[in-house]
Amino acid sequence: MNIPFIDLIAQRKALSAEIDQALNTVLDHGRFIMGPEVGQLEKELSTFCGVSRCVTCASGTDALLLPLMAWEIGPGDAVFVPSMTFISSAEVVLLLGAVPVFVDVDAATFTMNPDSLSKAIEAAEKEGINPRVVIPVDLFGQPADYGRINEIAKRRGIKVLADAAQSFGGSAPGGAVGTLADATASSFFPAKPLGCYGDGGAIFTADEELAEILESIRLHGRGDEKYDNVRIGLNGRLDTMQAAVLLVKLAAFPDEFKRRQALAGAYTRGLGDILEAPVVTDGYGSAWASYTLKAGSRQNRDSFQRALSKKSIPTQIYYPKPLHRQKVFASHNSLAPDGCPVSDDLSGRVFSLPFHPYMTDDTLDQIVHAVREIATSISAAA
Ligand SMILES: *Cc1c(COP(=O)(O)O)cnc(C)c1O
Repeated sequence: MNIPFIDLIAQRKALSAEIDQALNTVLDHGRFIMGPEVGQLEKELSTFCGVSRCVTCASGTDALLLPLMAWEIGPGDAVFVPSMTFISSAEVVLLLGAVPVFVDVDAATFTMNPDSLSKAIEAAEKEGINPRVVIPVDLFGQPADYGRINEIAKRRGIKVLADAAQSFGGSAPGGAVGTLADATASSFFPAKPLGCYGDGGAIFTADEELAEILESIRLHGRGDEKYDNVRIGLNGRLDTMQAAVLLVKLAAFPDEFKRRQALAGAYTRGLGDILEAPVVTDGYGSAWASYTLKAGSRQNRDSFQRALSKKSIPTQIYYPKPLHRQKVFASHNSLAPDGCPVSDDLSGRVFSLPFHPYMTDDTLDQIVHAVREIATSISAAA
């Protein structure tokens, strides 16, 4: 049995005719940079999310960087980021010379804890750095608590930039992902819920003025005319081939999304009594970027991983080291006022199982059976 962690080839097979045709169309028209598929994709993505503007870009990391550049974030500014996330969420802050202030997460949802955010804002003010932006991360697909985070941010004039790299298609009581913050950054890295065949990203916003600036920044800070440069920008475009692939995949996305819900439900029914299963808060919809369990301890997780690997079932740890413990942040300005104990605890216990919308019921049953067997032998050995 050879079980892939995420099976992109199965999806490729299911969509091969449409994708080949879409790519051939681009090869024939030859408009590889900002071709018609890019504008078409932006239109379809903004309709999908129910937000007025979508600006595509070269990666999820650029999707985080561009709004920070548009808001002129720089030295002396504090940007609040959860410690339990991928490096991109905070590296863009250092890149601009601002200070990442690490906030702890909620143990049940893996997303930013609003109480910890309030304390971090006070601590930053005491340090004399200016609170400017909060970047909640929709880890593993579930949107953060935007209701409370937006309220805290609005009171203090802080912008909210959602890191929705893992949550495209998800929803919260306030609406769909893309509408929950001042700006929302998503990623089309191949393994994300909506992925392309290379790097890609997008920013969603209802702020027309912001969208205009983002379009300028992704084109070298272009003004009204082609060789007119009015601000610092970068080469941050999504290429036409990736847009063509995404148009095909977006059409298949609703069915894939449904399948992800069914698979996650089946995992939880099969394993929820022996490991801590992921919890989706009432009123929220997760995009299920990954299916992540909590073992009882670090040793317990090691035992599961080792035994699963022997049975050729791959697992991943997202993320083994919280950001406030990464060397890059130790050697630059950063702040983690009360430490981030929940992030520390989770990084020592979480592990993710194979998960993708083309997984069969049979494969899922095999994995559930294997995990249960291992649980029995671990508790017998203990
Ligand atoms: C993948 C990811 C990113 C970065 O996206 P890229 O497209 O790889 O640049 C940012 N934040 C989170 C939470 C991610 O999972």
